[in-house]
Amino acid sequence: MPRETHEFQAETKQLLDLMIHSIYTNREIFLRELVSNASDAIDKIHFESLTNKDLLENDDSYEIFLIPDADTHTLSISDNGIGMTRDELIENIGTIAKSGTKAFLQRMMDAKKDDDAISGKELIGQFGVGFYSAFMVAEKITVITRKAGEKQAFKWESAGDGSYTIEECDKEKRGTTITLTLSADFYGDKAEENFTDTYKLEGLIKKYSDYVRYPIKMNFVIEEAPKDDEGKDIEGAEKIKRDEIRTLNSMQPLWSKNKSDIKAEEYNEFYKNLFHEWEEPMEVLHNKAEGTIEYTSLLFFPAHAPFNLYHTDYQPGLQLYSRHVFIMDNCKDLLPEYLRFVKGLVDSPDFSLNISRELLQQSRELKIIGRNLENSILKTLQRMLKNNREKYEKFWAEFGKSLKIGVYGSMYSGNDTINKLKDLLLFATSNEDKGLASLKEYIERMPESQKKIYYAAGKDRKAIDSLPQMELLREKNIEVLYLLDNVDEFAIEALREYEGKQFHSISRGDLGLDDVESQQTKKETEDIAKNNEGLIKDIKESLGEKVADVKISNRLKSSAVCLVADEQGPSFTMEQAFADANN
Ligand code: ADP
Ligand code: MG
Repeated sequence: MPRETHEFQAETKQLLDLMIHSIYTNREIFLRELVSNASDAIDKIHFESLTNKDLLENDDSYEIFLIPDADTHTLSISDNGIGMTRDELIENIGTIAKSGTKAFLQRMMDAKKDDDAISGKELIGQFGVGFYSAFMVAEKITVITRKAGEKQAFKWESAGDGSYTIEECDKEKRGTTITLTLSADFYGDKAEENFTDTYKLEGLIKKYSDYVRYPIKMNFVIEEAPKDDEGKDIEGAEKIKRDEIRTLNSMQPLWSKNKSDIKAEEYNEFYKNLFHEWEEPMEVLHNKAEGTIEYTSLLFFPAHAPFNLYHTDYQPGLQLYSRHVFIMDNCKDLLPEYLRFVKGLVDSPDFSLNISRELLQQSRELKIIGRNLENSILKTLQRMLKNNREKYEKFWAEFGKSLKIGVYGSMYSGNDTINKLKDLLLFATSNEDKGLASLKEYIERMPESQKKIYYAAGKDRKAIDSLPQMELLREKNIEVLYLLDNVDEFAIEALREYEGKQFHSISRGDLGLDDVESQQTKKETEDIAKNNEGLIKDIKESLGEKVADVKISNRLKSSAVCLVADEQGPSFTMEQAFADANN
C-alpha cells in the first residue's frame, strides 16, 4: 500500500493551530498526556488478554519507555499496549471525538474573540487536550503502531500543518511508539526547556505520572571514574560511560498509601490525571476498611457538574481494582443513581480479576461495599451542611438536582432514599434574606399556628412574588418555599410531608389557614358568598367548561381574581412540565 495523505478534520485543524501558536507556558504537560495514553493502551490490552491470552504474544511485561535522543533532537514514548489499526489511527488521531476536547475548543475560540489571551492560555492546562498537546513542543510527530493480534504495522506522520500521512511499516513488538521531533526551543543545552535531558524528564514523570501503574523506564548514561580492585575511584583516570535502565515512577497507587502521608496536591493531581479533569475536586473521601470485607475507596466530588450529567452519554460509576490491578471502569452497581456525579475507585482483594459485569451485579461483597460508600458519602454531606454551609451550598448548586431526582425516583422504587435525603434538600424561600433553607430550618421558623409547609413554583422569584396568592401569605408573614428548579416540585410531590407537616401548594385549593386567619374574615367571606350567589352563578355559566368552579376567596388583597388549581389535580407548573415533556 503506498503512502496516503489525509486532511485533518476542520476542528482538528483549529486545535492544532491553537497548539502550535499557543503562548502557553506550561508546555511540559504534553508528557503527562502521552504517558497516560500509553498507560490507557496497556490497560486495554491487559483487559482484552483476560479473555484472549494469545493477544499478548508471550509478552506480558507491560512497560512504557522514554527514549530521548539529543543528536536527532527527538523524544520517543513507547508502549506495549493495545496498538492501533489503520482505521483506528484515522479515527482516534485524525478526528476530535471527545466532547471534552470540543468544549475546550469552544472555550478557546470564545476566549480569542474576547481577546482574552490569559484565559485562553490557561485553558490548555485545565483541559486534558491529549495527543495534540504534543504539537506544543514538536514540529513533527511520528506514530508507529501495531495492533495486538494483527500482523501489519502502520506509520502515521504529521507536521501539524493540516494533513497527515499513513503508510505501512514494520514493527516487531505490538503497541505504539510516538516520536516527537522537537521544535528548536525544546532541545539543546541553551533551550528554554530541554526535553532530551534525562534528568528533566525524570522530574516530569515524578511530578505528573508517579503512580502510573506500569513502569516508565528510561536509559541513563552514567559517567563515572573507573574503579580499582577495592572499588574506589581511580583518580585522574578518564571517565567511562555505562548504560543503566531505571524505572522513574514509584507505581505505588496513591490510594494504597497512608492517608496521613498524602498531601492535598497529590490527591488533586491524581484526580485530574485519572479522570481527565482540569479542576481540583470539591471533596475527597479516602477510606480503608478492614474486617469481613476488605477494601480501599477513594472518591471525589467534582468541582462542577459535567454538562452531560443527565444525558445518556454520561458514564457514571466507579473504577474497580483488585490488589492495585485495574479491573473495570464505570462500574454502576456500587452507588445509587442519585450519586452518579461521584467519581472514584474501589480496590478490594475480594474482587476477582476476570469477573464479568453480570456476576458483579450479584456479588454480595459489592452490595455491602456499595452500602458503606453510600453511607459515608451521606455522612460527609450531612457534616458539610452542618459545618461548612458555604461549601454545601456550592455542592448544592452543582449536584442538588441529582439528590432531588433521587427523592422523586424513590417514590416509585419504594426504597428509603427519601429518608436518606430529606434533610439534605435546600430550597429558596420567600424570605430572601435568609438564603436557601433546609426543611428543618423552615419548620423551625414556622409560627406555632402554622400547620403546613407552603410552597409555590415558578420560573423565577419575580414570577412567584407577583402571584396573587402570595399577597395573603406575605401579609400573614408566612414563609413560602420557592420552587425555582423544574425538579423541585417533583421532589416535594414525592416527599408528601416532612416531620408530620404536609406540603401545600399555594396555588392549590384551600390554603387551610383557618387557625392563622381570624374567624372574623372567614365569616365575612361566607357572607359575601351568600350575598352574591347570583353573580357567581352568572360567572360560572359564562366561563362554562374553562373552569371547574368559581368561589369567593379571602386570599386576595389587591387583585380582583386569581386562578387556583384543584385540590386533587396536578399543579399548574406540573401541568406545564408534563406538557413540555410531551412536546
Ligand atoms: P483521550 O486519551 O482522552 O481519548 P487523546 O487525544 O489523548 O484523547 O487520545 C486520542 C485517542 O488516540 C485515544 O483515545 C486512543 O484511542 C488513541 N491513542 C492515543 N495514544 C495511544 C497509544 N499510545 N496507544 C493506543 N492508542 C492511543
Ligand atoms: Mg489521552
